Amino acid sequence: MARLRRGSDRANHAGRVKLYDTTLRDGMGGSGMSLSVGEKLKVVQALDELGVQFIEAGFPSSNPKEAELFARLAEMRLQNATIAAFGMTRRRGVAAADDEALATLLGSFAPVVCLVGKSWGLHLEKVIKVSAEENLAMIADSIALCRERGKRPVFDAEHFFDGYRDDDAYALECARAAAEAGAENVTLCDTNGGSLPGFVGEATAAVVAALGDGVEVGIHTHDDAGCAVANSLAAVEAGARLVQGTVNGYGERCGNANLATILPALQLKMGFEAVSAEQLARLTQTSHYLDELCNMKPNPDQPYVGRNAFAHKAGMHAAGVEADARTFEHLDPAEVGNAREILASELSGKATIRSQAEQAGLELDEAAAVHAVEELKQREHRGYHYEAAPASFQLLLRREAGSYEPLFELESFKVLVEKRADGAIETEATIKVRVDGRRYVRVAEGNGPVNALDAALRGAIADRYPHLADIELTNYKVRILDESHGTGAITRVLLDSSDGEREWGTIGVSENIIEASWEALVDSLEYAFQPR
Ligand SMILES: [Zn+2]
Repeated sequence: MARLRRGSDRANHAGRVKLYDTTLRDGMGGSGMSLSVGEKLKVVQALDELGVQFIEAGFPSSNPKEAELFARLAEMRLQNATIAAFGMTRRRGVAAADDEALATLLGSFAPVVCLVGKSWGLHLEKVIKVSAEENLAMIADSIALCRERGKRPVFDAEHFFDGYRDDDAYALECARAAAEAGAENVTLCDTNGGSLPGFVGEATAAVVAALGDGVEVGIHTHDDAGCAVANSLAAVEAGARLVQGTVNGYGERCGNANLATILPALQLKMGFEAVSAEQLARLTQTSHYLDELCNMKPNPDQPYVGRNAFAHKAGMHAAGVEADARTFEHLDPAEVGNAREILASELSGKATIRSQAEQAGLELDEAAAVHAVEELKQREHRGYHYEAAPASFQLLLRREAGSYEPLFELESFKVLVEKRADGAIETEATIKVRVDGRRYVRVAEGNGPVNALDAALRGAIADRYPHLADIELTNYKVRILDESHGTGAITRVLLDSSDGEREWGTIGVSENIIEASWEALVDSLEYAFQPR
């Protein structure tokens, strides 16, 4: 018998499976998910670098936020991904060409158009009140119009598995209607998320057999039964060749299928090719970065990419891993860009930090690198995460390298917040700093403590640093790290800044929200003045 690679349960399949990320559409239904246009573009950039083939950006409506997103996406140069716009099949009783929402979709620049449509009688009867025949016509007309207008249509068969369970012949007819009208892909959706892998595999195999080679079949699952990943993989086993989902499984209720789990399984265990080995090695970094952008706490126990995924307790496991990693690890963490905790971490940590310093044009000697790794570990323990705050990370390296120069010396600051009986709130900050031996005292008002502090600090040092006027704080995010402590918990602040030319992120961590904000603010301004 041929020897299989570690963690692999199958001989190599031939072929490709494409990834279709829907973070910006389905993922936004997740609790607490909210992204600005700028953050959405960062998500797109990160997914493109990971090698994802399709990125669903949402419905290109004329509301200002969506319009701006699509306008900026149209100008973005992506290496791997194609943008998909998302909408619905035509309304009942209207010709596809007269349907306004379809017209909006067709008017967008997105080459791929994903149309969701019904495939379950219960929904036809109870929700949209449309006959089975009319529904088939709605699917076929809409897909055909997309083709006619030069788009690449994907059909999302909503509630497909519930429909198939109810009436398999009709569910198949819906899939066939889309395929025959020219869909490039027919994606089967487990919209309610309650199906189990055996059934999903069986139903998918039936669709693949019924539709033949002319059309690709995709899978879109939700995690309500804890099986979204397993269901996606079962569908691929049964012949699906496109997987929809979200990195980290963002999505409403229990979330969408987690592409960060699916991708390594497809590639390292099932032998499919989805992205390159180099792209796969960006997986951990991408997963953590998206969590930071979405203001989510990275799950330390997440498969493949969690901080604990390859952490071994000292003792027998650690000794086993040292003797032969296969004893307690299902794959080499480096393949997914993760690292073994204990043992090798010291070494690899040092090498990584030195190469990061080099990239920033800094030189770290051996002793400084050891100290930097230690400092980083302690800071991470206190709640610092540098994935979304590379500017603060660079300042940390600068301090370690001994080439850090502070912009100013703080003597003190004071923030007063006054709330009056009539509801008015006033905030005032006073700051005392020294720059090159001269003392500056400034007072400023603001619409909140951080804003007032920012204004006072800028007022104090603006004469010395006129470029400060170009720097704008573009995003301010706060997260409570240890929720069990209520208002006494640790607060993490992430700040994005821009000078119109570049953008950078900084971080502050403290039990005091003003102190955490101050730290991120000072890093932000100092970063802008570091030599490049
Ligand atoms: Zn969904």
